[in-house]
Amino acid sequence: MKVTADRSRCMAAGHCAISAPDVFDHGEDGLVVVLDAEPGEQRRREVEVAEDLCPSRAIAILRTAAVTAPQEGGAPDSAG
Ligand code: SF4
Repeated sequence: MKVTADRSRCMAAGHCAISAPDVFDHGEDGLVVVLDAEPGEQRRREVEVAEDLCPSRAIAILRTAAVTAPQEGGAPDSAG
């Protein structure tokens, strides 16, 4: 799991650091700081809570698994 926090959107409300203190903190300006940009899966629940509670939608959870293009048209064409 990869986590980002958009400081330009952060309102310094503080929910993220309370929900996931090992992942988020605040800088001297009060805005969010990401402590761990790639937390382990054991942190997923608390990071999801932080994302959910963030009033400015500044927190995003990104998938780290390889992304494959969607297959269009079903099975591959083996006839050439
Ligand atoms: S919960 Fe959102 S608005 Fe509040 S400090 Fe964290 S990132 Fe900023």
